[in-house]
Amino acid sequence: MTTAEQQAAPNRFVLSEDEVPTHWYNLVVDLPYDIEPHLHSKEDRPALEEDYDWLWPTECLRIELLKGRYATDSWIEVPERVHSTYTRYRPSTLVRAKGLEQYLDSSDRIFYKREDLNPGGSHKFNTALAQAYYAAQDGVETLVTDTGAGQWGTALALACAAFGLKLKVFMVRKSFDEKPYRRNLMRMLGAEVISSPSETTDAGRGVLANAPDSPGSLGIGMAEAIELVRDNPSHRLALGCMSYYAAMHQTVIGLETQAQLAKAGVGADVLVGCVGGGSNFTGFVAPFVTGSEKPLCIAAEPATVPTLTKGEFRYDWADSERQTPRIPMYTLGSDFVPPPIHSGGLRYHGKTPILSSLVKHGLVTPRSFDQQEVFEAGQLFLRTEGVLPAPESSHAILAAIEEARRGTSGAPRNIVICLSGHGYLDLQGYADVLGLL
Ligand SMILES: *Cc1c(COP(=O)(O)O)cnc(C)c1O
Repeated sequence: MTTAEQQAAPNRFVLSEDEVPTHWYNLVVDLPYDIEPHLHSKEDRPALEEDYDWLWPTECLRIELLKGRYATDSWIEVPERVHSTYTRYRPSTLVRAKGLEQYLDSSDRIFYKREDLNPGGSHKFNTALAQAYYAAQDGVETLVTDTGAGQWGTALALACAAFGLKLKVFMVRKSFDEKPYRRNLMRMLGAEVISSPSETTDAGRGVLANAPDSPGSLGIGMAEAIELVRDNPSHRLALGCMSYYAAMHQTVIGLETQAQLAKAGVGADVLVGCVGGGSNFTGFVAPFVTGSEKPLCIAAEPATVPTLTKGEFRYDWADSERQTPRIPMYTLGSDFVPPPIHSGGLRYHGKTPILSSLVKHGLVTPRSFDQQEVFEAGQLFLRTEGVLPAPESSHAILAAIEEARRGTSGAPRNIVICLSGHGYLDLQGYADVLGLL
């Protein structure tokens, strides 16, 4: 592509407020194959709503277990109060990464969808709002959750403040110690933040007895959260990444991207996102994987948490104490404690079942990346685009860069990145890895 051609092309693809999706896309209904049911945590039978109604808000549980219309309807309307809050920060902009394109001197076009400008700084607010809304509707008093780097806890704290709910957050110890800013942000929003593994639950005490220096994990944090919910009838669990409902709520990202590309008269050839539990990626690619275009969808994960590239597809629990239903997914084992890498949001042993099924059926291609190169890609993005990505999102950026470098002999391709969050509260991690003094 000539520079003149590139310069004349639009920089930003903006939708208006009335183009915020009014429905989420329930991808599972349109998949060309059947998906295995969740099983009871201990018994050899499918999980039922009455087994877990103490754990989840009603509507989230129904989505998770694909009950009623969630087994039949492709489109689920966004509740009015959630939609009206979406319109305060959505649609998010799709940007042409011209600076990065010039640097790479690639003939491919690169775009990024800006989920970093959400309240809370990541895509997580898209589902936090919906989860807090459903909990408030049920008359729940307190939501309980686990968080890694703190993006999820922050998003949920904002959402709970909006709907008048209390929030307790088990924050993975490594991040609790290293990311005081997000911890403080959550506390400012009124949340109670507890370092996990903690002394406040049997699950936490059990881990500490064997490993007093445990850096914690999302699986352990979730086990602690579940225990608290089990002991308190007015409490329910909220999950940021691992659940199908979180992935479904994130389809607003993919639906907007689809509309923006259509307006630009551009097709999607390659879609790239990072995967922790899999929610931003699944929501991003959902409208494309069942369409006719069949883009190459690359799920980028850390080499140290290689769930999709090296894990096993089987039934496993979402938490380390084996209290959740057993979920058909790629997993490294529910007792896997990921090494303490800086991308806290990607330190998770399993992947959401729908994403796992997409990988298993060849509709999504997983790739893994080393931390050092990931952080260098984040730095390059800052220099060329003026945007500092979350370390998690830098995995997607590196995947896109490698794809553009690989190139093809054919026509220029359109590569679209889901920029899941910003990295302004991760500067210490960047400084450590990049060796900045
Ligand atoms: C939590 C998080 C992720 C990983 O979660 P997914 O469920 O895989 O989307 C990725 N990026 C950012 C910025 C996050 O906060």
